[in-house]
Amino acid sequence: MKIYINKKTITLILLTLLVVAGIVIYSNLEPSDSNGEKSVTITTTTRFLMDTTVVIKAVGPDSQNAVNEAFAEIERVENLFSRHKTTSDIARINQNAGQWVTVSREVFELAEKAIYYGQLSSGAFDVSIGRILDIWGFGNGLNQIPSEVEIDKAKQYVDFNQIELDTKNQRMRIPLGMVLDFGGIAKGYAVDMCRQILLNKSITSAMISAGGDIYAIGFKEENIPWRIGIQHPRKSTDILAIINLSDKAVVTSGDYERYFIKEGARFHHIIDPGTGRPTEDLISVTIIANSATDADALSTAVFVLGQTKGAELIEKLKGVEGLIVDAEGEIWVSSGLRAEIELL
Ligand code: AMP
Ligand code: MG
Repeated sequence: MKIYINKKTITLILLTLLVVAGIVIYSNLEPSDSNGEKSVTITTTTRFLMDTTVVIKAVGPDSQNAVNEAFAEIERVENLFSRHKTTSDIARINQNAGQWVTVSREVFELAEKAIYYGQLSSGAFDVSIGRILDIWGFGNGLNQIPSEVEIDKAKQYVDFNQIELDTKNQRMRIPLGMVLDFGGIAKGYAVDMCRQILLNKSITSAMISAGGDIYAIGFKEENIPWRIGIQHPRKSTDILAIINLSDKAVVTSGDYERYFIKEGARFHHIIDPGTGRPTEDLISVTIIANSATDADALSTAVFVLGQTKGAELIEKLKGVEGLIVDAEGEIWVSSGLRAEIELL
């Protein structure tokens, strides 16, 4: 049998091929279900931001785009709060100590929150700790033990009560010599902002992890909560405990996150504003709360307060749970967390 192909047939075949190719390319660009809506995809992306490894896993329509926007949000927050970025609001306040500095609404409000946590923790949490961090070399990589004289001098410039807030003009002023450092609270804030971006993008299930600051959105799978592993403070590849949770933040502060060893002793980045030295009572504090910002400030505050006062503060606060590991490795779990936690 002979098959005759005329010009008309060839044109028809070419046109059909073009249409099919167009459909294939289009469906690869815009995944969609039978209703024409964006289909549900899972995206996991890791990037290094805010001086730590950030991992975002999200499930939902067009999740890659949502995750990209969440990372852009973390960068935006970092550019507002990092004192090491010379153009950030916090760097500008530090550079202009003694003078009023107009700041963005977010910086003003987080400063108010930081001061609130300073009051709540009787000064254990102090966002004006920068000067002491610098003499120990945290943040600038010097890693040195300062002299008694240097510590006493730096301590004079640490007092959150002296941060002035001008609500009407959205301005802030710090005394000459003071250095603000939002390292104990800004990561949590970034995680909360990320969460909001993902929710706005209709993401129904996600996990945001920025170093020790985590937020779990929804469930991992239908009716199965996220299982969050709390790092063992002395065995970097081990997990100390697993917490099941959904729509909550888990934030851990540890003496293993940033430290140096000199003369056989460990010197870490969480400073007692009273002594001007790294605290010695605890090695890890985990806080569970509705907001990562609150959990972040509280994890640092409890770390400085120590076992007794720290546990008291956790039990006093509604909607806040915690886990404390002391220098001997003893683990304390708050009353509301005992049923939700698996100690390994
Ligand atoms: P975190 O890992 O959340 O406990 O935060 C630790 C970071 O908070 C440090 O790297 C410092 O930038 C900052 N910081 C250290 N000590 C204090 C303190 N007593 N109050 C507030 N922030 C602190
Ligand atoms: Mg913190």
